[in-house]
Amino acid sequence: QVQTRSETTWQRAIRAKNESVNALVSIASSSMDIHSSEGGLKDMTIAIKDNICTSQMPTTCSSAMLREFTSPYDATVVELLESAGSTVVGKTNCDEFGMGSLNVHSVHGPVVNPFQSKSASSDTPWESRERRSAGGSSGGSAAAVAAGMCDAALATDTGGSTRLPASYCGVVGLKPSYGMISRWGVVSFADSLDCVGVIGSNVEVTQRVYDTLAVYDSKDPSAARPEIRQKAHALSEEHIGSWASSSTSLTGLRIGVPQEYFPNAVSPAVVKPLRRTLRSLKQRGATIVPVSLPNTRFALSAYYVLASAEASSNLARYDGVQYGLHVRPPSSTPAHTPALTYAHTRSQGFGPEVKKRILLGTYALTADAFDNYFLQAQRVRKLIRQDFNRVFLVRNPLSAPSHPPPLSLPSSPAESDPSGVHVLLHPSAIRTAPLLPTDSGADQSETLDTYVQDVLTVPASLAGVPALSVPVPVDETEGDGWPVGVSVVGQWGSEAMVLRVGNAIE
Ligand code: GLN
Repeated sequence: QVQTRSETTWQRAIRAKNESVNALVSIASSSMDIHSSEGGLKDMTIAIKDNICTSQMPTTCSSAMLREFTSPYDATVVELLESAGSTVVGKTNCDEFGMGSLNVHSVHGPVVNPFQSKSASSDTPWESRERRSAGGSSGGSAAAVAAGMCDAALATDTGGSTRLPASYCGVVGLKPSYGMISRWGVVSFADSLDCVGVIGSNVEVTQRVYDTLAVYDSKDPSAARPEIRQKAHALSEEHIGSWASSSTSLTGLRIGVPQEYFPNAVSPAVVKPLRRTLRSLKQRGATIVPVSLPNTRFALSAYYVLASAEASSNLARYDGVQYGLHVRPPSSTPAHTPALTYAHTRSQGFGPEVKKRILLGTYALTADAFDNYFLQAQRVRKLIRQDFNRVFLVRNPLSAPSHPPPLSLPSSPAESDPSGVHVLLHPSAIRTAPLLPTDSGADQSETLDTYVQDVLTVPASLAGVPALSVPVPVDETEGDGWPVGVSVVGQWGSEAMVLRVGNAIE
């Protein structure tokens, strides 16, 4: 009885918060939150992005195509969270199939960033506050954590979808190394880039969830094998040992600041807090080293070619037969061929951004365009991996000849430079959260600006390396007072190191 009452209160509280933010698209039924387990996450409430399969709630991917779809099974990550005793509170809003940077391409409507700037007093009614984007595509996950609806949330990150919303909402977001967390049961967008990400209220919470999920899963063919995980752990521990002997001093830690991560588009409101963070790390003994990753400038175009090409192939499964929506051609149509059913289903089921990506990706894979677009983008990807391998002191565990990596995993023969760095530090986003597009104003979601927001996050995705966005203190006199995130990027498998540096920044 008591338990039922408290569950109802709990659900009611979440529902009330969700009204203005629109972060959750399903709220778990009360039966889901009773866990007798003694697992390591039993004190934690967690929300799950709606492109990760759950058998107890629908998995819509924020698409009309899957609006009525409930998976018959749970993703491995959901099983792991439940067996660790955490309470799943619901499913989070996102851009359709993970495609977007503002969480505006959603059949459930946009997510509103719950951060309230200091200039708006706490009694300013919600309607008169600025309506800013929570970032995308995992805007619902970041907003749910920022609004206090849960301690942590699962996200996905193909080109920045965990880090960008974390930065806009003022929470922590980790994109792990490619292959570290199982993708079994995660709806594919671009398989060679897709990762499950973790968003948390602080670094410690994020790390606890990550540690629970970062285990080998034989059901995921792209999962990093146990030997590689061990090897990566050993390589990164060797280096952590050289600077983490005391909990306060950072003497021995070498932090690289990549000069290419400060394009003209980066706002001073973002650069100033980053400089302050660097100064404080230096005062604590860290060495700050300017570094160059010269191929960064090609990353955004390469990412959009590769991600769209893979998406165009992945989304072919939504044909109106196997999953979700099925639209019959109108009865006036003379012959009902299967192709006609596909066309009607897809025309109604996919939103404009998804259609755009399918067309772009299909084009990049056609015989005429393949060499100039797809292959060229693959070459760029290789150069970007080499850039990272060159600057990191930690060797890439995937490049050793004794362990040839699976085809889809990043590797490079390039040797690291002895004057290299342990991690890189750069702004997570070029600006603070943008305003949500309004009916009257220009629709930002339609402009090229939206894609430019990914410029700082896609390189780590193309290289498959871990990246953690941590909010840093902002001074309202320098910008608009909205959250700013900085990203810590490390070698493949260096999550422990990246999280340690994140802890030092927090
Ligand atoms: N904004 C990027 C895109 O639209 C990244 C999305 C993601 O990481 N899922 O492709």
